[in-house]
Amino acid sequence: MTVSAPFLATTTAQLDRFLADNQPAKGRRAVVMTMGALHEGHLELVRAAKEAATQVIVTIFVNPLQFGPGEDYEAYPRTLEADLALLTEAGVDAVFAPSPQEMYPDTRPLVTVSAGHIGTVLEGAIRPGHFDGMLTVVLKLLNLTRPDLAFFGQKDAQQLLLIQRMVKDFNLGVKICPVPIVRQEDGLALSSRNSYLSQEERETALTLSRALTAAQLAAQRGATAGQARAVAAQVIEQIAGLTLDYLVVVDPQTIAQADEDYRGSALTLIAARVGSTRLIDNMPVEIAP
Ligand code: AMP
Repeated sequence: MTVSAPFLATTTAQLDRFLADNQPAKGRRAVVMTMGALHEGHLELVRAAKEAATQVIVTIFVNPLQFGPGEDYEAYPRTLEADLALLTEAGVDAVFAPSPQEMYPDTRPLVTVSAGHIGTVLEGAIRPGHFDGMLTVVLKLLNLTRPDLAFFGQKDAQQLLLIQRMVKDFNLGVKICPVPIVRQEDGLALSSRNSYLSQEERETALTLSRALTAAQLAAQRGATAGQARAVAAQVIEQIAGLTLDYLVVVDPQTIAQADEDYRGSALTLIAARVGSTRLIDNMPVEIAP
């Protein structure tokens, strides 16, 4: 079977032309936003989008606004050619891969989105301004691609919640579709940043999903939120070479930390540094009544 390459737009004018010339049936345009260095996690979003929509646009943009000083903006892997090959195989209709100048002609936008309180806790506490920058680019990309559906991974749980809130709070009229985390067989959540890990660091990084699984199992056996968290913390404590940023059991609707004796549906969130690589992961926990 021959597959044709997606339309590649690097400017907003080119994207506009594609959108004007290719109107899908009503309600049927989907967007998948990425920073590139694509892996199976991204491709799962594309597959879900293709199933739900007749036209799929993938954006590839390493957004400078969401990186803080000293973070990996410059080092972040940029693999456009390989990404385009994967997206050709995946059968997407268009790729929007703008330059930073195209997205931010004035270097930084004067007006940005504020993520509010949720933007200042957990990831937001460690990466100040990250979620404001992320929401600003998501809003821009939604306005540029004008989709009916937008697919985001549950891997970035706090990001997903904030996007859902922005869409609701600003009446953006796009349906946000969450996609479960894709993992490797041994449990490691796929991430473009995994390419930074040495073989030894990758072993260490497995602790994140092991700790989350331990919390999940403890909850199934009757542990409260506090007890499930403690079980996960024990798994982490035994491991050298891993610096924990946070490990929390939260209410998935608000990302507020669950009380020690909370029972019900919750989410365990973890963030840690392995060497100089920062990794995040999460897993649902059903705390039995
Ligand atoms: P990124 O390129 O890291 O900004 O991610 C782009 C989108 O892919 C976001 O919606 C992520 O949540 C999603 N994503 C990244 N890794 C995974 C994964 N392992 N499983 C599911 N979705 C993912």
